[in-house]
Amino acid sequence: MPFVIFNLLYLTILPSTIVSTWNYGELGPDVWSDQYPLCIGHSQSPIDIKTACTIYQSFIPFHFSEDYNNSYDFTVVNNGHTILTKYSGNILPSLTVTGGGLNGTFEFLNFHLHWGENYKSGSEHQVNSEKYAGEIHFVYINPQTYQLAVLGIFMHSNRDIHTDHQRKRRDYSNTKKNTLDEWETFFSIAGTLQQADMSVILSLNLAILMGTNLNDFWRYRGSLTVPPCTEDIIWTVFKTPIVFTENELNIFRKKLFFHDYRNPQPLYNRTVYRNFVNEELLSAVDYNCCLKSIPNGANTRNIALLSKITLLFILVH
Ligand SMILES: [Zn+2]
Repeated sequence: MPFVIFNLLYLTILPSTIVSTWNYGELGPDVWSDQYPLCIGHSQSPIDIKTACTIYQSFIPFHFSEDYNNSYDFTVVNNGHTILTKYSGNILPSLTVTGGGLNGTFEFLNFHLHWGENYKSGSEHQVNSEKYAGEIHFVYINPQTYQLAVLGIFMHSNRDIHTDHQRKRRDYSNTKKNTLDEWETFFSIAGTLQQADMSVILSLNLAILMGTNLNDFWRYRGSLTVPPCTEDIIWTVFKTPIVFTENELNIFRKKLFFHDYRNPQPLYNRTVYRNFVNEELLSAVDYNCCLKSIPNGANTRNIALLSKITLLFILVH
């Protein structure tokens, strides 16, 4: 048993090499562009996903490689900005994803977390201007093209789940117990990494961590949400969050206080796609947000037509 624990929890403190030129405080997102000009580009992430303004597009399902279903040793590190997890074992598993509209085979690079001060803050992406308690980013690269792709899963607090508002907004399919157990292991160990550069080796199963609610998602072209804010990144944001207990999230927050999320960036003329047919609509006034996000001006024409009908109605009456 001690041997197992030793393998599971190999704590190391690496020499401090991080001299950061950015953070979420004095050198926070508002001034990132001083040193990283890409951060004021027109394809930045995260964004506020206005559900009524998304466009339906069919994508083939994601396919994860066989090795994704096994447990391997990963290094979990406090890098001063977040808790980041990358593969560190001796064998070389094929941790890849294809499908989902991705162009080619993408290899797993890392996953990391964004979280906030309380159960209503922490996610980077927002859905109809509402935040979740956090967001997990699984980062991949196509080794042929060096294209990056990020799969984002919202972290939701169960404290928020029973309100009428939330029930109306989202479909909360149950998060399976094995997924919650795997995250519990992660949180309990990651919570010990209270200083920058502390790391631990932990056996984790990526497929279990990601859970099974990966069918419905939004898709758009964006950027890294941290400097250098590199663009042309394929973003996937899954609709169904993983639901954690508020107590568990709160312990993690208290052990590791980070405010490590960037606020939504302007959409400009980008389109956000969804791969599921039905989406709830926003109130009519919110349709203003759609003007720039729908290609070929279809929506502009609809709104112009609606205005003419309204004018005609007023004239007739
Ligand atoms: Zn991230």
